[in-house]
Amino acid sequence: MIVIFLGPPGAGKGTQAGHIVKRYGIPQLSTGDMLRAAVAAKTPVGVKAKAIMDAGDLVSDEIVAAIVEERIEQDDCAPGFLLDGFPRTVPQAEMLDAILTKKGRAVDAVIELKVDEAALLDRLRNRIKETKARGEEVRADDNEETFAKRLQVYREQTAPLIPYYKGQGKLREVDGMQTVEAVSADIDAILDRIQG
Ligand code: ADP
Repeated sequence: MIVIFLGPPGAGKGTQAGHIVKRYGIPQLSTGDMLRAAVAAKTPVGVKAKAIMDAGDLVSDEIVAAIVEERIEQDDCAPGFLLDGFPRTVPQAEMLDAILTKKGRAVDAVIELKVDEAALLDRLRNRIKETKARGEEVRADDNEETFAKRLQVYREQTAPLIPYYKGQGKLREVDGMQTVEAVSADIDAILDRIQG
């Protein structure tokens, strides 16, 4: 089962991903996490990506597609995987389709977490507060200024994926303004049908 999570920053993709990983036994492939690991390890990709990410811009399509292609070749991705943060542009979606076609695989469902934009800033402020309360370091791009930029990038570059996947008949909308449990239940209903 190959599933894509779509939604603006703060939509709850990370929270719901944890639930899916547990329930369906497929790994979560977060390009944001992979890129942050590359930054921390100071790999050539990480060195290139750091300033771009800190500014809230997108790393090049070729770089992220190569990272994802390498990752899905690993054994744990054989039963399927959940993509979180990828694809983020239409060219990335086309690259993903090409990569999967080569392997005789295809995306099963694209779950769009729909949220009110007005709620996103509150969620960000909460996330910053909670991260600090845990004594952890706040992400370099988790501040109000960069967040506004990330939201703009989402609207301009990522939202066009909605008609792209609607056209493929794969888009499934979920109301992300519900409680965490209710959102999970809606996602389960969609994925249970796919798993049959
Ligand atoms: P969010 O909290 O917005 O979902 P992520 O953790 O997914 O953020 O990503 C953080 C940053 O990493 C993005 O703002 C971008 O710079 C970079 N990034 C992650 N995934 C991609 C991608 N598929 N294409 C380009 N850049 C990406």
